[in-house]
Amino acid sequence: MVVVVGAGPAGLRAAEAAAADGAQVAICDAQPSAGRKFLVAGRGGLNLTHSEPVENFPDRYRTEPERWRELLARFSPDALRAWAEELAVETYVGTSRRVFPRGQKAAVLLRAWLQRLRSTGVEFRTGERLLGLTREGDSWRLDFGGGGRMIARAVVLALGGASWPETGSDGAWPTLLAAHGVEMAPFAAANCGWNVSWPAAVLERAEGLPLKNLDVRAAGEVVSGELLITRYGLEGGAIYRLGPVLREMARPELRIDFKPQVTADVLRERAAQLRWPNEWFRAWKLSAGVVALVQGYFPDDCVEREKAIARLKEFPLPLGGPRPIAEAISTAGGVLWRELDDQLMLRRMPGVFLAGEMIDWEAPTGGYLLQGCFSTGTRAGRAAAEYARHL
Ligand SMILES: Cc1cc2nc3c(=O)[nH]c(=O)nc-3n(C[C@H](O)[C@H](O)[C@H](O)COP(=O)(O)OP(=O)(O)OC[C@H]3O[C@@H](n4cnc5c(N)ncnc54)[C@H](O)[C@@H]3O)c2cc1C
Repeated sequence: MVVVVGAGPAGLRAAEAAAADGAQVAICDAQPSAGRKFLVAGRGGLNLTHSEPVENFPDRYRTEPERWRELLARFSPDALRAWAEELAVETYVGTSRRVFPRGQKAAVLLRAWLQRLRSTGVEFRTGERLLGLTREGDSWRLDFGGGGRMIARAVVLALGGASWPETGSDGAWPTLLAAHGVEMAPFAAANCGWNVSWPAAVLERAEGLPLKNLDVRAAGEVVSGELLITRYGLEGGAIYRLGPVLREMARPELRIDFKPQVTADVLRERAAQLRWPNEWFRAWKLSAGVVALVQGYFPDDCVEREKAIARLKEFPLPLGGPRPIAEAISTAGGVLWRELDDQLMLRRMPGVFLAGEMIDWEAPTGGYLLQGCFSTGTRAGRAAAEYARHL
């Protein structure tokens, strides 16, 4: 028997892959229902994967390119789209080349998926919190809160990260594995907003305003994208993607080019015949958010054309820390890759396989997170079925 613990996308996919390989499968979750974070992900439009060439994906996961190549070869972005279509949910490529389910809510996809899993014989046990794993002969004993127990030859753990704890991903599982000597990197908020101590005058004018078509740089890494000014700081794709670099900086700071499409010379030319700052700003087509930032931080520079241009092309913005993990879209940290063999089995716990966000990887938004969960889930589920069969 294969027991999967954690009924998020990684665990559900592991259960599906193990059942397809002929294993008898039970899936347990501490929550009263499966896939709660998957449903939260669906609120803003469920971004299933990305349509860029699969060869580019390993770079998005930052480390372990060989492993990712192998994992993606077994369950690719195309396979993920085909999987959704088998559940009668067509997918389409959006403007940013991200892949979404067409006209469907995450709830529709999840319902169809759970029904199919049940029809293939996967047993669901909800309200079961795993508290301990103990080796018994050639099997594992799983102890759950409330006194329940299960014995399994192969176990897949897909317990998630530590963001949005109300969905069940509460990051409480490390003690389970630390008891067996498994090494983990501490959790950190990923794909999250950052705090900024805005001058009151900036906040008054700019709260809620978007900053579009920017180049944002931190420690030599440049990304293009958007930011949103919030009461506490900044949100948006550009800062999410710089998270890994910002976390490494002793004094995190952004350098923003508000006009990456044009050179300083072009800005100079556009303002050549104009006398007043408000006229230059209009000629440069600056958004209200950019004007509020430049005038709020550097009022003196705004009255000198050359200095204003320099600020627009390179605006330094010191940041406070990242927002709390509970608010983040995903979590960095978790079980170190070196603890896992190439079947995603824990070297120190033979027969225990891992999948999804609980492994120490991170990726930007754009569908790479769910793709990572599905690819690792497929690998762990198949390997667990094989392990249970051959023991
Ligand atoms: C607001 C938001 C939007 C997102 N949007 C997207 C998106 O559009 N595209 C994308 O790719 N990704 C998105 N994500 C990220 C994506 O949802 C996660 O990466 C994914 O859900 C992680 O899957 P997982 O199976 O590893 O873990 P989870 O989905 O976190 O599931 C883990 C499960 O384990 C259970 N569990 C934990 N501990 C125990 C225990 N001790 N015993 C029993 N059960 C336990 C939990 O109850 C939970 O059900 C988004 C996330 C958020 C928060």
